[in-house]
Amino acid sequence: GIDIMQNFDLTGKVIIITGAATGIGEQCAYDLADMGATVIATDIDEAGVDATAAKIIKGNGKAISIRHDVTSEADWDKLIETCKQQFSRLDVLVNNAGIMMNIPFALCSYEDFKKQQTINVDSVFIGCKAAYELMAESGMTTSGSSIINLSSIFGQISGPMHTAYCASKGAIRMLRKSMAVELGPMGTKIRVNSVHPGPINTELGRSAAKDAEKLGLLADADERNKQVGALFPMGRWGEVEDVSGVIAFLASDASQFVTGAELVVDGAYSIV
Ligand code: NAP
Repeated sequence: GIDIMQNFDLTGKVIIITGAATGIGEQCAYDLADMGATVIATDIDEAGVDATAAKIIKGNGKAISIRHDVTSEADWDKLIETCKQQFSRLDVLVNNAGIMMNIPFALCSYEDFKKQQTINVDSVFIGCKAAYELMAESGMTTSGSSIINLSSIFGQISGPMHTAYCASKGAIRMLRKSMAVELGPMGTKIRVNSVHPGPINTELGRSAAKDAEKLGLLADADERNKQVGALFPMGRWGEVEDVSGVIAFLASDASQFVTGAELVVDGAYSIV
């Protein structure tokens, strides 16, 4: 039989989390470290991600922080090299860093569109390319390694101002399916899944209403953000802890037969 508690334990796993200075990535860093993982917290915001790692270390967890722009191949190569040198393995990659451009189609330039894809999609492709050989090697001595990509319910449904964002999150869905098919059976034992949150109470989550207010499409962003909670059948906004638990599951051996899957974390927001 299996030891279910042991399957949820992340002790011994080395985990990269991108965009870990704030929001979902930051919470994820704390929670995965609490579950025993060694966390490599990365972000373009150096001071922010240093603070995340310092907080983990203060609580007797294991973490390092690295300044890392996810759109830079050179930064990815340096990051994976550091990972090899310091830990000799990589078990989990959480591709969390991202931006949400809230721009109506008519105002969205090709430059805007490309910027959105570069940060949200190209970053995941080059990150997985940089990481997968070390992950495959690490996975040979365990039940397998795990890539977790942050998509969104906006990879499944749409809304105004989100042409470029929806295209980027839709691409993450298919990247996950294609990579799961290729990286599972080739003896690499890398699972690839995507997480699809609904609106989560972070700066990014609250920004849609703020930008709509700036464009004169909405009278009062704070009021609107208060009302958004009522749109969820669960009756409240999602919080970062609602997402990090699902990421923890996908990082753990408890999900060792889950690959190519999409986990929606939206309090049923997208189905009503
Ligand atoms: P957040 O609070 O804005 O945090 C994202 C982090 O990523 C920030 O620290 C940001 O740094 C960093 N980042 C941005 N560009 C980067 C780059 N090029 N290289 C490295 N780091 C970079 O966002 P969040 O709400 O936690 O969202 C995290 C992920 O979940 C995103 O992929 C997002 O699309 C997805 N998601 C969020 C929601 C939601 O409602 N919040 C819903 C569905 C999906 P700066 O602050 O310095 O830019």
